[in-house]
Amino acid sequence: MQTNLKIYNSLTGQKELFKPLIPKHVGMYVCGPTVYSNVHLGNVRTFISFDVIYRYLKFLGYKVRYVRNITDAGHLEDDSNEDKISKKARLEKLEPMEIVQQYTIDFHKVLDLVNNLPPDIEPTATGHIIEQIETTKDILKKGYAYESNGSIYFDVLKYNAEIDKYGKLSGRNIEDMIANTRTLEGQDEKRNPQDFALWKKASPQHIMRWSSPWGEGFPGWHMECTVMSTKYLGEQFDIHGGGMDLKFPHHECEIAQGKTANGVDPVKYWMHANMLTLNGKKMSKSTGNHLLPQEIFSGDNTLLSKAYSPAVVRFFMLQAHYRNMLDLSEDALQAAEKAYKKLMEAVKILPDLPQSEKSSEDVAALIESFYEAMNDDFNTPILIARLFEAVRLINSVKDGKASLTKADKQQLQNALNQFAFEVLGLHHTAQDAATHQAFDKTIQLLIDIRNNARAEKNWALSDQIRDELARFGIQLKDGKDGTTYSFK
Ligand code: AMP
Ligand code: ZN
Repeated sequence: MQTNLKIYNSLTGQKELFKPLIPKHVGMYVCGPTVYSNVHLGNVRTFISFDVIYRYLKFLGYKVRYVRNITDAGHLEDDSNEDKISKKARLEKLEPMEIVQQYTIDFHKVLDLVNNLPPDIEPTATGHIIEQIETTKDILKKGYAYESNGSIYFDVLKYNAEIDKYGKLSGRNIEDMIANTRTLEGQDEKRNPQDFALWKKASPQHIMRWSSPWGEGFPGWHMECTVMSTKYLGEQFDIHGGGMDLKFPHHECEIAQGKTANGVDPVKYWMHANMLTLNGKKMSKSTGNHLLPQEIFSGDNTLLSKAYSPAVVRFFMLQAHYRNMLDLSEDALQAAEKAYKKLMEAVKILPDLPQSEKSSEDVAALIESFYEAMNDDFNTPILIARLFEAVRLINSVKDGKASLTKADKQQLQNALNQFAFEVLGLHHTAQDAATHQAFDKTIQLLIDIRNNARAEKNWALSDQIRDELARFGIQLKDGKDGTTYSFK
């Protein structure tokens, strides 16, 4: 087992050598989606980032328990007291659990398309109401929460004075927070604007509600992650992840709740994935600045000229390090598509290359560099650059300008399979990619035949090709740069 994996810990702001709490085992918790609408590509990026982390830990031989929750209650609309799922259910006149079901299915479908592995446990907030009430009671009993008009709030100032610094993860301090607070509607129940809800009283029109010692209500959003991570991974576990935007207040509150309830810091390594932007701005559900996965896979959008496959989208995302921002653009997707095809082609031709007595390059060192890239805080862009050194070598051997021994060829093939498919999860198999390429070439051939038919004014044939393809769900678009296709 490789042991020199370094992880950037958001809590310390440093890359640290990874040492799990229990040797050879890793407990990892990642905040899942709030299932009140379709996941957008920004969400998908975060889940791909953690999928690669999960894959690499497993690849190194760790026994990983990966827990990723489904938030199906408790996540409030900003600046309001209404639960996001309840609100959607009210607006669409559906049961909240219909909303939850619809978008959970969508979420799983999308992650499956981009070849993410499912987590080991996928608990829901509504499935853990009892645990959330118990932990709230515990924090109340310890004196770090108070009841106000049927809701329970966490006492941030008391925690900050007696237990630990509130703001240590996000690098904020409580004095600044107090100085910068604006008073929001409905916050007068709190002793202090920084206090957050462990439990909220349900107003009469609030649909999702449970009985509690404090009357009917629903749990606060931060509480679900504390109880589900504790239940399945223990009071202390190795890795907690999520998007950068969850650092404050969500993860800060999780630390405060966990440390108050259990007396220990819940997480050893905090990891935060950076945002996907569109037109330079964060992709987000609430602002409408987003692209849905289906829109990009089908080409049915106004931003891009054609469709991009899930494999290309995944590859595009992995070309950036998970801690860097990434902007989605046509140019970047096109470049990713080209590079992805080149990589797949090289993997495909490698087994059929001639073999020599001597290798012209140090293949073992090249393979070692794959590990080095991933051991350096899961640096996927560096890994991809190293994979392209292998691509160059393969193409040079093909052109007779370099050589590989039989053993080196086999080693390289194994390493490419491991790192491109098992670790980066680029596609199920090289065969799938080859099939995709063959499909693409077949459609291009039909486009060429149709163009020839049009040049010869054979309208019957050109229409037949267009109409039959449309029948199979493939739409041809004639533009000034030629004909392109997309999936309807
Ligand atoms: P939500 O369903 O809004 O709770 O978000 C689910 C996950 O997606 C969280 O980890 C967010 O931090 C993450 N996320 C939201 N927007 C983006 C974005 N534009 N880029 C990357 N991750 C995002
Ligand atoms: Zn969470």
